[in-house]
Amino acid sequence: MGNVKAPKSSRNSRGTVACDNTTMHLLQANDFVAETIRKRMADNGILMINIVSSAGSGKTTLMQETVKRLKDKYNIAILVGDLETERDADRIKEVGGNALQIVTGGICHLEAQMIWQAIEGMNLEGVDILFVENVGNLVCPASFDLGEDYRITLISTTEGDDKPKKYPKMFLTSEMMVVSKADLLPYLPFSLELVTKDAMDVNPDIEVLSLSSTSGEGLDEWCEWLATKVKEKTTAKAVS
Ligand code: MG
Ligand code: ZN
Repeated sequence: MGNVKAPKSSRNSRGTVACDNTTMHLLQANDFVAETIRKRMADNGILMINIVSSAGSGKTTLMQETVKRLKDKYNIAILVGDLETERDADRIKEVGGNALQIVTGGICHLEAQMIWQAIEGMNLEGVDILFVENVGNLVCPASFDLGEDYRITLISTTEGDDKPKKYPKMFLTSEMMVVSKADLLPYLPFSLELVTKDAMDVNPDIEVLSLSSTSGEGLDEWCEWLATKVKEKTTAKAVS
């Protein structure tokens, strides 16, 4: 009789456990996985960059241009998050990029656990840069650390210059704001000055870069920035 266990449903925990904010605990679990990813990247000397923006701001196009310009210099891997399709990974593969699609099945952001699952199946040997193209959304991706070194928010000239104050958390948690589709600036009521001021009001440390994947303006600076960061990451690995 002493060996008969009580059914699980009738077991009580001892003392008191108050689970008051489930969302907060889910985010803590995410952060734990993100730290594991960050350590893995540090051990491998891989620069990891999380690219976020609204839908249609040019994330995939920027990835295509980055691969075209840097594929002979660096080994670049790209994880692409999308709700349903594999179109973006296909677009990156078309220009010779090493891309893996993460289909989230309707989830509007990437979580660290999804990145962990994806990199488990990847060969990271020799990879210099791991880009993560997040799901197009300026809201909840701000809450999910993926273990990245840098979070970069793209804001296109076509979507308006009012985004930093409307989505402050995204700009607060980003190291850089990239203004994309800069070739269209002469035709649109978009103020580079205003968007920079608003972004810096939210986050005084944010770097700002404007570029166009179509005209190529700003892409040299973008590639130079990446080269500097790859060097820093490799140096950090060498001394550790
Ligand atoms: Mg895309
Ligand atoms: Zn979401």
